Parts: sequence; C-alpha cells; structure tokens
Amino acid sequence: MTVGILTVGDEIVGGHVADTNSTYLTRQLGEIGFGVRRTVTVGDDGRHIADALASLLADCDLVFITGGLGPTDDDITKEAVASAAGLSLRVDDGLLRRLEARYAGDPRARPEIIRRLATVPEGARLLENPVGAAAGMVLVCEAKRIYVLPGVPAEMEAIFETCIVADLESLPMRDFARSRVLRTTGLRESEIDRRIGATPLGRGVRLGYLPTLTGVDLRLTAVGASGNEATAALNETAAKIAGVLGDFVHSDRGADLEAVVAGMLIEAKTTLAVAESCTGGLIGHLLTEVPGISACLDRCVVAYSNKAKMEVLSVGRDLLDRHGAVSPEVAEAMACGVRELAGTDLGLSTTGIAGPGGGSAEKPVGLVYTAVAYAGGCTVDRSVFRGTRHAVKIRAATHALDMVRYRLLRTGG
Ligand code: ATP
Ligand code: MG
Repeated sequence: MTVGILTVGDEIVGGHVADTNSTYLTRQLGEIGFGVRRTVTVGDDGRHIADALASLLADCDLVFITGGLGPTDDDITKEAVASAAGLSLRVDDGLLRRLEARYAGDPRARPEIIRRLATVPEGARLLENPVGAAAGMVLVCEAKRIYVLPGVPAEMEAIFETCIVADLESLPMRDFARSRVLRTTGLRESEIDRRIGATPLGRGVRLGYLPTLTGVDLRLTAVGASGNEATAALNETAAKIAGVLGDFVHSDRGADLEAVVAGMLIEAKTTLAVAESCTGGLIGHLLTEVPGISACLDRCVVAYSNKAKMEVLSVGRDLLDRHGAVSPEVAEAMACGVRELAGTDLGLSTTGIAGPGGGSAEKPVGLVYTAVAYAGGCTVDRSVFRGTRHAVKIRAATHALDMVRYRLLRTGG
C-alpha cells in the first residue's frame, strides 16, 4: 500500500512556512505501517493541484492532501480535487446546518462563506474537524483513497488522530516502518561511507546520512511485515554498522554527545572541571543541559584573555609570551590549572582561533588545541575545524567533549 502526500499553499512554495504537515503525516503513517513514497508541494493554483493529484494517484494507493480547504478565494483545493476526480461539487446539508449553528450570531460569518465551507465533492465522506470549521473528507476514486485535510497543522492533526487512524487500521497490506539513529563524531561522511563499504544492510533496511555541525547521524529505517520484523532487521543492521564504526559511534539510540559524556562521568563517579577560551562557555552550556550533571561537574571557567588565563588558571606569563595563547603548552596549562583549582579527577580546556580574523600561516583560523588533564598526565590535541566562527565553536566544543569520552572509554574514569 503506497502513500503520497500533496501539500498545498503559496506560502510553503514561497518558503515562508515550513511544511510540517508532510513530516507529521510521514512519521505518523510510518508508525502504523504505511510508507510514504512521494511528497509534492504546489501553490494555490487549481491546475497545479489537479496535475499533482493525478500524478500521485498514478503510483499511490492513498493520497493525503493538506491546505486550501478554507472559505477564502485562495482556497481552491476542493474544486481542483473534484475536477481531477471527475466529480461535481454539492452543498452538504448536514455540514451546512452544523456550520450555521456554529456561527449563529457571528457577524463575520457571511452566508456565502458558510456555503463555501459546506461545499464538498460528490461522494465525499466527511471527517469531522474537532478544532476548526473546515471539515476533512475522504474520497474513493477507482479503488484509491484521497484524504483531504485543512492546512492548519492543529486541525489536520486532530482529524488524522480522531478519524483517519482507525480508518487506516482496517486496510490490508500494511508495512511497518521503524527507524533508529546512530550518532557519530569525528568522521566525515565520505569516510563513514568508505568504512561501511559493502556491509550488507538487513532486509528492507535503508540508510541515510545526516551531517550536522557535531558529526554525522546515520538514520536507519526498516520496513517489515510486522513491527517486530522491522525492529529485528533494524537491530541487526545497527549492530553491524556500530561494529564497523566502533568508538566513532557515541550513541546507537540518537542520544546527544553531552548526554552520553555526562552519563559516563556519572557512572564512573569521575569529576570534571572545564576551562574554555575559544568555545566561550559552550562546553559548560552543553554539559549543564544534562540533568544530574551536578554530581560530576565542578565548574566551568571562561578564561578568554591572557590576563584571565594567568589570574584564574595560573597559566605562566612566560608560556603565553613564548608560545602564544593558542598553543599546546597553554592548552595543557589551562587544563592542569583548572583541574588543580577545582580538585577534580579531570580538567578539560580549549584554546583556539574561531575566526574569521586572527589567523596566520602558522596558526590558521579554526586551529584549536584541546587538553584533558588527569592524575599523572595530560593529553593535548591539535585540530583545525572548518566553517564560520559559530561552526568552529560548535565543532571545537564537540571535539572537547569527545576527548573526555575517549578518556573515559580507555580508563573507565
Ligand atoms: P483556513 O481555513 O485557515 O484557510 P486551509 O485548509 O485553507 O485553512 P491554508 O489556508 O492552506 O489551509 O493554510 C492555513 C495555515 O496553515 C497557513 O497559513 C499555514 O500557516 C498553515 N499551513 C498550511 N499548510 C501547511 C503545511 N503543509 N505545513 C505547515 N503549516 C501549514
Ligand atoms: Mg486558507
């Protein structure tokens, strides 16, 4: 059973409103076993709506249309659907009476507006709208079903939940879709692709790459004849890919890196203090988003100037003079300084050039030193991150958190 979605609206085509109706429908339909094959968006144009509907009906058994059901002149979906399906329009007496009762005494509700709202294609079954005026409807057209829904998300969702889910659950030939996200940090998309290489995916499993500023998310979607079958295929494939990518996967359940690191710190009863220069408090922000982090996080110091690095973290003036603030020596001194100041197990620091100015051949924009100090030593990393100032800060904070994760993986704390 294949599904197509048609969202209608000049505001969506024009980029003024994001099409959340199709993402909502795709997700909800997937949960109850219907995979969406195609989503099309057109403006408020009768011919475009009719053409898109005809094209979707050619290869889909179910078509959902949202938008353009209201009473204004730009709401022409019902006319276009009737014309594509070869149906005439009529006023539904029951709906007309309900709307008249709803708007009794409302001077804005002119009779012609109410008549327009009550006009439906011949043969349409109405789907009551529990939160608005425009009713949804379903048409059966040569063994295909067309659901026509209002564009306002809350109204569309209410009709979907109260009328359509039960309708769909009686249909045969359903596929069940399940999905899961493996989150990675530290590898580029092309490198992940190379490593995954010829690893066979489970039956009915598809893999999608979603690069973000913090890494690459791998979305696995499995379709099976039952929820259990899809979940089994998904689990098998997730385990294979996690096996190939090893520690580059920080979560096989879509968790944020900071939540994973916080969980590991709490589990290992390891305390942490952070000294940030170029990340400006971002690491502190990320960690303090995680509930329960107070058990492990002692402090986050933003030491931006050389003066602050010397005063707060006891970084030596000679180190700053000799090597500059963006250097492995200063990163190490910051991590050791904050660790000693706080008396924690670990000290984490960042110092770098976020850009866009301030770079040189020797120290380019995006150069960041990150250090993790621990009892008896300190690991210092040199990385050059790409992108805008904002991107460099996010990539640097992510990398710093990942260094803590690697430290905990190696030592258990
Ligand atoms: P109304 O009775 O309000 O006119 P309608 O069914 O005619 O409802 P539209 O006029 O197409 O729907 O859209 C109403 C509002 O709903 C739009 O201004 C827009 O903000 C929102 N909307 C429409 N389509 C979508 C969509 N696909 N995703 C998210 N929001 C949407
Ligand atoms: Mg409208």
